[in-house]
Amino acid sequence: KAKEQRGSLSFFSDDLTSSARRRLDMERRLRYALEHGELSLYYQPQWDIETGAMTGLEALIRWQDPEEGLISPADFIPVAEQSNLIGSIGRWVVLEACRQLADWRGRGIITPRVAINVSAQQLLYHDLVEIVAGALDETGIPPRLLEVELTEGVLMSAAVSPEKMLHELRQLGVRMAIDDFGTGYSSLAYLKRFPIDVLKIDKSFTDDLLTSREASAVVETIIVLGHKLGLTVLAEGVETSDQLEELERLGCHQFQGYLRSKPLPVNELEDFLISYKC
Ligand code: C2E
Ligand code: CA
Ligand code: CA
Ligand code: CA
Repeated sequence: KAKEQRGSLSFFSDDLTSSARRRLDMERRLRYALEHGELSLYYQPQWDIETGAMTGLEALIRWQDPEEGLISPADFIPVAEQSNLIGSIGRWVVLEACRQLADWRGRGIITPRVAINVSAQQLLYHDLVEIVAGALDETGIPPRLLEVELTEGVLMSAAVSPEKMLHELRQLGVRMAIDDFGTGYSSLAYLKRFPIDVLKIDKSFTDDLLTSREASAVVETIIVLGHKLGLTVLAEGVETSDQLEELERLGCHQFQGYLRSKPLPVNELEDFLISYKC
């Protein structure tokens, strides 16, 4: 028995070592990727449910590794967050999105606003407000064309002063969205204190909207809350027209999802924008 336990223990520690090695290897390749232009932003359109008009674009990071192909941000963002890389990647995302907007404007391509994702770690160690202000300044794009998506975890974090930061971002004229709303900390008090514009209903609720009473109740509650507080409510991950119909019935303002469009690389999005005429 004891022998068996020892055996499983040593197996477990071997496993840990190899996963730590994999993480370090990914960190090294990710740093290389950042410095050698292997990262890019894809853009997923957001739509007004009632009018069908395009209201925004969410910038989603992609890593094209020459050996491994496309690596999901769900895999490499956590690695970046555990190292100091998230600061550099976050800065790159802000600047890249602003430069892309400026490029489109310069070429007469009309776009709605662009939303970027900001992770909690990024805020702990780096000055988001300065980075955003610098990028707006360098590119000259109107601040209202930029939206910052934060998760509830960021807002509840004790290590930063999210209230001050959010008000400073608001001062710049940037819009603010709460990402994955309803999945994180359950304090709603911050909705009153923070200058928030958009609540994004997490895909997990959209997925179960038609099959789970609980999910449906959560979605309905978020929509009512949004209405009462004068916030825009956007549902993520809409894949079926039945989901969309139900969201419309509940009074949800906007949606995003494969039903209408996946995240697109810049060249495909441009073809689409030019034919679409925002
Ligand atoms: P998120 O911010 O919640 O983004 C939504 C994710 O759902 C995206 O995955 C998007 O491609 C996917 N999605 C959108 N519509 C649908 C749909 O109808 N069906 C399905 N199955 N999926 C849909 P993605 O691009 O793989 O990103 C995953 C996560 O990685 C993001 O979740 C976000 O937390 C993080 N991430 C992405 N880009 C960035 C970034 O630039 N910075 C940071 N810090 N995090 C990022
Ligand atoms: Ca997001
Ligand atoms: Ca989300
Ligand atoms: Ca998410």
